[in-house]
Amino acid sequence: MVSELSQDFVHQPIQGCGPMVATFAQIVDLLRCPDDAEPLRYASGDLLCPRCARRFSIYEEDLAEILPSRPHALPGTVSPQYRNAYIEAFEQNYRDDETI
Ligand SMILES: [Zn+2]
Repeated sequence: MVSELSQDFVHQPIQGCGPMVATFAQIVDLLRCPDDAEPLRYASGDLLCPRCARRFSIYEEDLAEILPSRPHALPGTVSPQYRNAYIEAFEQNYRDDETI
């Protein structure tokens, strides 16, 4: 069964790859906390998880970094190079170029 939301996407023409039009306040019902899957809420310009109280900052009104608090446990078959690159990428934080 296709959800109502999926049907909307199927029947709408592709708008291109331009900037996101909807604000987080408009799409917050679709977002979940990466740690506990609780629906996020829009609160004072941030996204807030009411269960674990994590806040996810919104940058420039159209970019949010919604990552789990800890890296995912990778399977033992992953190469050391991939594992190291994953951990290194996970530990990077978003920085706005204008604030550097
Ligand atoms: Zn949470």
